[in-house]
Amino acid sequence: MIVENGKIIHIGTNLPEYDEKIDLNGKLVMARYVDPHLHLDYVYTLSELEQDGAVSGILFEAIELWPKFKKTLTVESVKRLALKGIKDEVSQGVQHIRTHIDVTDPKFTALKAMLEMKEELKDTVDIQIVAFPQEGMYMYKGGRDLVEEALKMGADVVGGIPHYEPAREFGEKSVHDIVELALKYDKLIDVHCDETDDPHSRFLELLNAHVFMEDYGSRTTASHTCSFGSADDSYAFRMMDIFKKSKIHFISCPTENAYLQGRQDTYPKRRGLTRVKEFIASGINVAFAKDSINDPWYPMGNGNMMNILDNGIHLAQIMSPEEIKTNFDLITYNDARCLNIYDIYGLEIGKQANFIVLNEALCL
Ligand SMILES: [Zn+2]
Repeated sequence: MIVENGKIIHIGTNLPEYDEKIDLNGKLVMARYVDPHLHLDYVYTLSELEQDGAVSGILFEAIELWPKFKKTLTVESVKRLALKGIKDEVSQGVQHIRTHIDVTDPKFTALKAMLEMKEELKDTVDIQIVAFPQEGMYMYKGGRDLVEEALKMGADVVGGIPHYEPAREFGEKSVHDIVELALKYDKLIDVHCDETDDPHSRFLELLNAHVFMEDYGSRTTASHTCSFGSADDSYAFRMMDIFKKSKIHFISCPTENAYLQGRQDTYPKRRGLTRVKEFIASGINVAFAKDSINDPWYPMGNGNMMNILDNGIHLAQIMSPEEIKTNFDLITYNDARCLNIYDIYGLEIGKQANFIVLNEALCL
């Protein structure tokens, strides 16, 4: 490979001699990892909550404490913990992070911190910021307007959480708002969508219909969509037909949702994942993400995307010889499509010369 002025200009054998030469001794060169869904304002907050003696490690206790804990955050405290999370990821090959930042906070403490970090760290990692109303656009008074303000302040992506709104009608209203705001401010969309086992949670259907009609699917991502894993087949296959037409992207967080979902099931117990295998087979773009590192929603985690891939291919049952050939795409190329960075991303001539080198050779 020949690199010049930060770009790949040649790939192949019998390359001409160049001033500087680096011999990687047969190691594997890969496109850089992308984590397309991470909550950087939450990372390592579980440890902080535990230090306060407030949490016994019980999930719902921590979730109820979050709004209270949020009030104690400062720009400095958010940056201190977020930097730990970013270091975890970057040190393990991640060079692009899309982070959902909670904007249901009239002071925008976390957003201000993240806007600063995005600029300060731009030579190390690309950060995309989602204006995410964790407590809802309507469940939280004024939540919708806070999302709009966050977009004006510089957030890159419109977020939402329709299944958390107080009634279906308000969840639908929030989906209309999300698309409207994205069109108004020319932003990408990434919605926490149907992160529940309830097969009647069908906000994905409405989101997809909207972006299909607006021709905005390739700029839209539906994250989690766990309920689609519980949906009836006749509904699911009809929907997949329209997902294909709209070109909407999907992000699945395998470790997080395997941990969080199926909690009310005794047995059989659901896996919590959306239909990753079927999306791949249908040519619908789907990517894997981390979601959490040691926060009230998920106590474990580090920045290792290979761990996410390993868990994901087990949970989604995608290990046939054909499927293995594209498994790495689930933490690289497919994620780059969700982030709409495909024009600069990848091991191809003309693309940015950013890549990672793994010690092992790839044997297929
Ligand atoms: Zn999330």
